[in-house]
Formats: sequence, C-alpha cells, structure tokens
Amino acid sequence: SETGAIKWDKAPCRFCGTGCHVRVGVKEGRVVAIEGDQLAEVNKGLLCVKGYHVGLALYGKDRLTRPMLRKGGKLEPISWEEAIEVVAQRIMTSPEKFAIYGSGQWTIPEGYAANKLMKAGLSNNHIEPNARLCMASAVTGFLSVYGVDEPAGAYDDLDKCDVLILWGNNMAEMHPVLFSRVIDRRARGEKVTIIDLGTRRTRSSEFADHYWEFKPNGDLAIANGIAHLLLKNGTYDKEFVERHCAFRQDKTAAALHGESMTFEDYKATLAPFTPEHVAQLSGVPAEKIQMLADLFGNRDLRITSTWCMGFNQHNRATDINRLCHSIHLLSGHFGKPGDAPTSLTGQPSACGTAREVGTMCHFLPGGRLVENAEHRADAENLWNVPAGRIKPKMGYHTVLLWEKFCTPTDKGGDISTVWVQVTNPGQSLPNLHKLFQAKKDLEDKFLIVSDVYPTATTELADLVLPSAMWVEKNGIYGNSERRTQQWFKMVNPPGEARDDAWQNIAVARKLFELGHAGMKDKEGKFLFTFKDEAGKDVPAWEWPHYHDLNVDKALFEEYRAFSRLKHKDLAPYDEYVKARGLRWPVVQQPDGSWRETRFRFAEFDDPYVKKGAGIQFYHSTTKDDRAQVWFAPYTPPAEAPDAAFPFWLCTGRVLEHWHTGTMTMRIPQLHGAVPFAYVEMHAADAEERNISNGDSVVVKTRRGELRLPVWVNGRSQPPRGNLFIPFFDERLLCNLLTLDVTCPISKEPDYKKCAAAVVKA
Ligand code: SF4
Repeated sequence: SETGAIKWDKAPCRFCGTGCHVRVGVKEGRVVAIEGDQLAEVNKGLLCVKGYHVGLALYGKDRLTRPMLRKGGKLEPISWEEAIEVVAQRIMTSPEKFAIYGSGQWTIPEGYAANKLMKAGLSNNHIEPNARLCMASAVTGFLSVYGVDEPAGAYDDLDKCDVLILWGNNMAEMHPVLFSRVIDRRARGEKVTIIDLGTRRTRSSEFADHYWEFKPNGDLAIANGIAHLLLKNGTYDKEFVERHCAFRQDKTAAALHGESMTFEDYKATLAPFTPEHVAQLSGVPAEKIQMLADLFGNRDLRITSTWCMGFNQHNRATDINRLCHSIHLLSGHFGKPGDAPTSLTGQPSACGTAREVGTMCHFLPGGRLVENAEHRADAENLWNVPAGRIKPKMGYHTVLLWEKFCTPTDKGGDISTVWVQVTNPGQSLPNLHKLFQAKKDLEDKFLIVSDVYPTATTELADLVLPSAMWVEKNGIYGNSERRTQQWFKMVNPPGEARDDAWQNIAVARKLFELGHAGMKDKEGKFLFTFKDEAGKDVPAWEWPHYHDLNVDKALFEEYRAFSRLKHKDLAPYDEYVKARGLRWPVVQQPDGSWRETRFRFAEFDDPYVKKGAGIQFYHSTTKDDRAQVWFAPYTPPAEAPDAAFPFWLCTGRVLEHWHTGTMTMRIPQLHGAVPFAYVEMHAADAEERNISNGDSVVVKTRRGELRLPVWVNGRSQPPRGNLFIPFFDERLLCNLLTLDVTCPISKEPDYKKCAAAVVKA
C-alpha cells in the first residue's frame, strides 16, 4: 500500500529473537519510517526502543562499500572479481583447513547456501554459527529430553499462564515486547504471578511478585530441590509420568544421552536435595524452595518457565536446561496452553538458521546429524551429490575452531582460513587474548570478514567484503517460537555491498571454474544451479543476474525438503509472503490451506500426535514416545572468587544495545541513551574501596584487565561481591576478561561467572 509518497512493506525486526514484525516505509530509495505491524501476532503493533529505530541501522556513516584486501598492513580497495578469486584460492590451497563462522543473523537462505557450500561441496564440517555462544545449550537440552530441538510451546503460553518463572532471564530488557504481553495482561486485571530467580536484580525484577537471588550455579540445586519435594510430597503428576516419561542421568558428566535409571533410583538420588541443603547451596531460603515445589505441585495453575543466557552460558548448561524441562514434566505442567518450559533466543534467526538449517559443525539441515550414516545419505540424496561426499566427523565447535585458528600451524593449529559472515567474534568470543587477538602474530593465518560496518573483527581481517543488510536484500528468519518470517528487498545496498548468499554462491562458482570436484553434483552440474520459469539456467553468481530470479525462494524451496525429515515441515515460500510468519510444523489441510502448529506433542494441536495419545513425544530418544526426566547433580562454577580475585563477574546486554553494538551504536538515539560500557558494583563494595560513581577503575581477571567507569548500583543492582559489565562497547571489550570454559556437552562458554578484582585506576 502507499501513503503519500511512502511505500510500505512488512519485515521482521532485524534485532532480537522475539521476531516482532515492523512496517517499513520507503521513500526515494531510503527507509524513512518504521512502525509496529498491527497484523503481527507476536507484537500486535508494538515495538521496543530498538525496533522503532531499526531503519537507522542501515545508515551509519561508515558503511563498508567496497571489498578491501590488506596490503602492507593496510586495507586497500579491490574489485569483487579479485576478492572472490582470493577467497577461492585460499580454499583451493587447503580446503580442509578452511572454516566458515556465521551467525543466527544469517537469513535462512544465506545459512543454507553456506552450509551446502561447506558440507556438500567442500566435504568440510568446519562451519559454525555464533549461536554456539548463545543457544547451543538449549539445543542439547531439548535433544536430550525430547529427542528433537526447539520449544514445544509458543508465545501464546505467556497469554495463558498463571505463573511466569524467569530463570536468570531478564525478559523486560532482552525480549521487551514479549514481556509487555504479560504486563498488559496485568493491566487488563488478569492475575499473573511473576517469579524472578536470578543472580542479580534486573528491570524484570521490578515487575516481579517475588525476586529470589541465588548464588552462581545455585539454579542446579533449586531445580533438584523442587523435584525432590514433588516426589517426597507425592505432588508430582503420577499419571503423566507413568504414561509419558522415562528417567535418565549422565554419569560421565559429558554425554548427550546418558544412561537410563529407574524411578526409585531417581527418587533416591534426589533425596539429599532437601530444602535446607538447597538453601545452603543456592542461598535461596528453604521456605521459598517449598513454595516453588507447591506451585509446581498445583495442577490448577498454568506455569510457564522461560530462560535465555542465564541457563545457556553456564558451565553445566545442558544440565540446567534438562532440569528445568524435567520439573515441568514431573509435575505435568506441559502440553497445555500456559504450561510450558520455553527457551528464548537472542538473535533473529538463531532458531531458523543456526538450528533448523543446521549450520553447526555436527548438524545437517532439518535437525539431522553428520555422524549418522542414514542422515548423511538423505542429505546427499537431496543435494544430489555422490554417496560419501559428506564427511562423517563433526567439525570444530566454535571455541575449538578459534583456538585452532589462533594456534601456530606447527603446533596443531590446523585451521588456516576463516570466513566470518554476519558476526563479530573479535568482540563476542570469550577470552579474546587467546581466541582472537593471538591471530595478529600468525602470518600464515588468513581472516576474511563479510560485514556491514568496520568492527573489532575487521581490525584483524586480511580481506573485508561489504555486505547488504536486512531490507537491502530478500530474507527469511525464524524466531524463538518456531515462526518462519519472510521479507522482500526494499532498498539498494550502498556502494558495492552485496548479499551474503550471493557471496557464497559466487565463491562456489569460482571453485567450480577452478576445477574443484566438490562443486559438481552427480550429473556434473554446478551445485547452485537455478532455473528460471522457462527452465533456463540463471547465472546467479554474476551479480547483474543475481536478481533475475528470487534466489531466496529457490534456496528456501530446496531446503524445505529437509524440513520434512524430522516433522519440522515448512510451507511453500509463497505462504510466508502472505503471512506474518508461520510456526512449524506447517501442514497442508484438505482444503489446500496451510496450518501452523502452536503446541507440539499435544494432540489438540500437533498434527503428528496419534489420535487418542493426548501427549506423544514422537522423537523420543528411547523410541517409546516418552520424554526423559533427568537427574543432574549440583556442580560448582568453573572459577570462583578467592583472595586475589574476590568478586563474581557477570557480563550481558542492555535494552538499548543489541549484542556487540555494531548496529545500535550507530543509531544516534540508542548510542546517546547508553554511550559507553561500565562496570556495575554494589554501593557498599564501592565505598569500601573509596570508589565513587563515575570513577575509573581497572577490572582484572586471570585472563586480562580492562579500565572502565563505575556505575554504583547501576541498572541491575548487583549484589555485594558481584560485578556486571555489558558487552556492547567495542572500545571496552569485556571479553578480554571472560572464561573460555564451556559446558562439556553443548560446548557453549560460560560468560556469566568468573572471578575478578577491582582497583581504582
Ligand atoms: Fe525488535 Fe526484539 Fe525489540 Fe521486538 S523486542 S522490536 S524483535 S528488538
């Protein structure tokens, strides 16, 4: 539709995993207006402060507009032709030492193209998304409990629950529009009890009926304490458990599927987790543990649990994910609107691209695994490549990949070239001295970065490629509730910036021309062959022809075949053009229409549940339609305060900035609101050290130190002995301080707790 000279179209917001829809107003080739989309179910017309300003993310003054190659230490402009040749030659020299590091901000077609280039073309599984840093633990949690990834529930749960438990989850700042759905219910007179369990107060705590602070890793004890009381008091849901659950533990502390255990063993193992013992481990009073158990024991209530990085960036992250699912299953708070354990994601397509497209080193598209011979055969078949093309061995997970890149080749550093797309590891990796900055001393390592702005990562890049962003290209994202969302290109990218999907296809084509055998399918045709409506091949790798057909649609339709292999069915592309997103599985109805699914595994809504089953976990790891209830022990943090480093240090985000601030720091309104990073500390801790608000201090850990201003109490009011630093500011890299210890199963680092010291500068 048109209003005056402004042309409007729909798109999902470029920022967080909530997946709000915006209406984008374009005039004279520029995005000039943004408004909340009234037709969007997720946000019903509302946006947060980032969403209202999302259009300005395109117009920072320093957009990258030309490919640049480092010559004599300086980045010099080169042509796209030269740039593609450089990338292809690096790959040809040592294809097994090449890696792609992408993101949950890749669109689905972009991630799919990169994944296909690597796994089907180069027989190389060294592809990872930055999502390893944020939701890999949610994935291992879902897989080990249900046998399939992603939440069973949907945002609708927030409209129906009586109790919302935020597990280390600052929803008010990180998923503000979702949080407003709950707060709006209160404004309408509905009763929703919010319980905030965290290691520090946040904006979410201000709205909570109860805020209970736990010591780092105390969440493991709390969840076990609830399970213990449900069993001891007989308030667990006996019928649900007998029909739908099995019991499991992981004696190695590093296995995805562990060993089965009996109900009696499970009960006995939980016995030590009395409220008193849990209080000791967690710091949450025993009566509060009893209160939580009583809530879960009450079947008249609907309870929704949400979590995000508090659980996922945790040295026992898979365990705490499992335990949260387990108390919902044990108490039968599952499978009804409002009764759900739900993980939230930070990036707009962490689910859609990183997880569903399978851009991780162990995944294939559609939730399948490179280590599984049958899965590889299916993928080879769909990609029409010879049997054996896909390597059976997992690639390097993120932390290992960067370690291998930043280690000298003769000392085992067997990754020599990394192509970074749509992410900023120079700021977001943990322990940056070791995992990123060490590259500067290694002459033979080559870093390629496709991005839209100069970043901490482009600083060390050998080749920089300018990318198109958001509505400068066609795209598809998938949000936290399995909702796939499509948009069309509305404006041109600046200068010579080009789509990332094109960049991948152009490199693949150059490899094909150079004679790389992997770039051919079984018939000897180029892997990325697209046909127009007349059946004629379109040379999409030539930029002037890239838009001759909708490459996004072609890639998506090809990918869609994978989605049907594990009941994650996607609808045809054109259905997404009409809708404000659809939640998978999307299944065609007898009348030809396409129906989305809100509640998986529940007969009333999920088309894959057998009639009469009620609930059916049809991807059960025990192949008996049961979900796994896990026991996982309390385990202390990997590093704890001591005399030399007496504080806990936690890192995270703020409402106004998105992740590493690459986009939001270029939006004047958001930059002005929170212009630089700081360290928050408790007033008494500051006073004890003669530190006043705004003073400059040095925060030190065993890995590095950082000078930055103090905000006494700050926004989050950290408890005594705790510090908090946001990670959005590239001038103040808090990841020089953080640990690279990971959850042993998900391989996701723990950014939420390490030992630190503070001294006045
Ligand atoms: Fe965008 Fe997230 Fe804000 Fe919604 S909540 S407007 S998706 S940043």
